[in-house]
Amino acid sequence: MPLLEFTSKGIYCKQANVYLDPWKGVERALISHGHSDHARWGSKHYITQKINVPIIKHRLGNISVSGKKYNDAFRINEVKFSFHPAGHVPGSSQIRVEYKGEVWVFTGDYKIQNDGISTEFETVPCHTLITESTFGLPVFQWEDPQKVHDCINQWWAQNHAEKTTSLLMGYSLGKVQRLLKHLDPSISKIYTHGATEQMTQVLRQFIDFPRTEIITRDTTKKEIEGNLVLAPPAVLGSAWVKKLGLLSTGYASGWMAFRGARRRRAVDRAFVLSDHADWKGLISAIKETGCENVITTHGYTELFSQYLNEQGWNARTQKTKYESETKEILAAE
Ligand SMILES: [Zn+2]
Repeated sequence: MPLLEFTSKGIYCKQANVYLDPWKGVERALISHGHSDHARWGSKHYITQKINVPIIKHRLGNISVSGKKYNDAFRINEVKFSFHPAGHVPGSSQIRVEYKGEVWVFTGDYKIQNDGISTEFETVPCHTLITESTFGLPVFQWEDPQKVHDCINQWWAQNHAEKTTSLLMGYSLGKVQRLLKHLDPSISKIYTHGATEQMTQVLRQFIDFPRTEIITRDTTKKEIEGNLVLAPPAVLGSAWVKKLGLLSTGYASGWMAFRGARRRRAVDRAFVLSDHADWKGLISAIKETGCENVITTHGYTELFSQYLNEQGWNARTQKTKYESETKEILAAE
């Protein structure tokens, strides 16, 4: 009997009777991070990393949830659990599970690069690693993120000089705050979409961010014009953007590495900035754990696990309901 098994409700630890990031409602759910494909509604009790508590409360409403510090172990039916930094978004964790000397780690989503807002990724030694593989192809190699932030700031400066509004888009949890954190401090006015503003407010209790101002019904086009606006990608093509005046659009995502994705998104500027590990990041993360077995759950699972098998790991893929950023791109088609 494996320590963790894949069931119709999610990843299950029978010995402790708990699920990890279940996609259906269960009695007790351990949650890796706040993105909607990992933190789902309908479970009776949630256990997650402390920073993630207000995040999932914001997303899921009035739920029963307890928060744990990183690295603090707790036991359920003799199974030892702990949360470890995954570096993906604030509050994101890998979940370590130990029973009778056997150790499994479920990564959730993760990245190795330090994004300046999430606790940095930590290697957790284990026998079996359940890993994401969103960008599990050699073609994915991220640039130094500072270079990407510099490009964004230059883009803004040019737009500002031309009295053009810069609409910078990214995921509401993690990406947008990462963008905000690295904006040129000389940018005096930063406007936000409601969804962006709300999640940023939740994170302000843990992280220092520049001042932002939500765009309301009363905000005029004249006020916004030439400034920077942060919003989720869903606003593209909506009536909301008409309010922003003369516009240049920028979109920050790992998927922007695909030229086709840029075209489909019809954005002026594509910034390749991901909250997932690239090819080298995935391989080094797996290697560092010293694991023998690897289970790939989402992304380029087949090709990636085939490669791992060739390199001597005992790897296989497992279908789950985790979507990463794929949905975001498909939705644009
Ligand atoms: Zn995620």
